[in-house]
Parts: sequence; structure tokens; C-alpha cells
Amino acid sequence: MGGPVSWSVPDHVVDTLRDFLTFQGEMGVMTVPRGQARQVSTPVAGVDDKLSAFAEEISNCQACGLSAGRTHVVFGAGAPDADVMFVGEAPGQEEDRQGLPFVGASGSLLTRMIEAIGLTRESVYIANIIKCRPPQNRDPQRDEIAACEPFLKRQIDIVQPLVICTLGRFAAQTLLQTTTGMGRLRGRVYDYEGVRVVPTYHPAALLRNPQWKRPTWEDLKRVRLEYDGVKL
Ligand code: URA
Repeated sequence: MGGPVSWSVPDHVVDTLRDFLTFQGEMGVMTVPRGQARQVSTPVAGVDDKLSAFAEEISNCQACGLSAGRTHVVFGAGAPDADVMFVGEAPGQEEDRQGLPFVGASGSLLTRMIEAIGLTRESVYIANIIKCRPPQNRDPQRDEIAACEPFLKRQIDIVQPLVICTLGRFAAQTLLQTTTGMGRLRGRVYDYEGVRVVPTYHPAALLRNPQWKRPTWEDLKRVRLEYDGVKL
């Protein structure tokens, strides 16, 4: 009785923990948050069907010139009834190839950002302002945003998230109908048709400007607090 118990931790658990702690370290976080992830939402009947039907409806969209150069309409991915939604700018090369959002270099950073607040990619919903890749990843143009924005609005309407985290200036400026720059926009919580909106930097910008990781971590914690329903 009472002899030593030997056990081993599966590799994928070690990998996930290492990634999480590395990201926290990069963000300048020295403590590990306590508390359980609240990840399981009750499935809402029909939401999946509505979202799939809508994806099908726009899969051949020709509403702007970007349709000519795309491989796929990158509709969005994740839980159809997610409580937390991340909204980026536009698909890049890899996203266009696979038809999925945030699967390139900035996608792996986004995954770590999501996991850093105790969520998973599968439990959130990820979409973009623009659904087709702009040539050479140039900035989206005003007419392209105008053509595509109703699609995002419809997605938000179907998913009905509690919190939207916008990634980068195009997402924040489009949803919040403003021309204010990111530096001044972030650090506050906004309202978009009854949904809490937390703007933060785009993962691609974080890769170029590591000094923005710390404020991004503050924004992500705010996303988590809004999701947990904590009133400050
Ligand atoms: N950047 C974005 O804004 N969206 C993607 O899907 C990929 C990169």
C-alpha cells in the first residue's frame, strides 16, 4: 500500500501546455490564471443548418471584383452557436487555398491567443470582414468592404455571440463605423447591436510588432471577462 504511483502525461497535453506558457511568456504574463474554462454552450437547434445554408448561398458570390481572383469564398469556421466570435480582415494565400480562415502564420498565433484565455478554436467562431482574398494581400477597398459586410452581419445574426473580438483596424473600424486608429480604439468595450465588442491588434501585426503583445493580452483578458459575464 502507498507505493509510488507512476503515470505519464500524454504528449499532446505537454505540447498544449508548452504552447500556452510560451505565449503567456511572450505576452509578459508571469502567472497562470486559475479557474475553469466555460466552454460548453448548449447547442441551439437549427443554427448549424442556417449557417451552412448561408455559406452555400454565397459560395459563388460575384458581388465585387475579388471574386475573379479567388479560389474559395472563405466563409468562416468554428462553433455555429459560439459565445465568442473573432473577426479578422480578409483571407490570405493559405486561407484562399484551403477555404478556411486563419490557417496561415497569423492563424497559429490566433490559435494561441484563443487558448491563452482558456478557449479553443472549435468552441469559438472565426470569420473575416472580407470573404475573398485581395490580390497580394493588399488592404481591402471601401467598395469591397461594402459588398461583403452584409454577409458578416448575417453571420453575427445567426451565431448570436455574446462577445466579438475584432482583430486589426479594418474589422474594428467596419463594425464600429469609425475611422479612429487601433491605438485609440482598443482598451474599451463597445456595443454592436447588443453584442459586446472588444477591439485588439491583428495577429499579423503582432508578429511584426511584438511590443503590442502586452496590450493584446489585456484585451484578451477583457474578452474572457465579458464572456464570463463579469461586470467591472
Ligand atoms: N488574416 C485575416 O485577417 N484573416 C484570415 O483569415 C487570415 C489572415
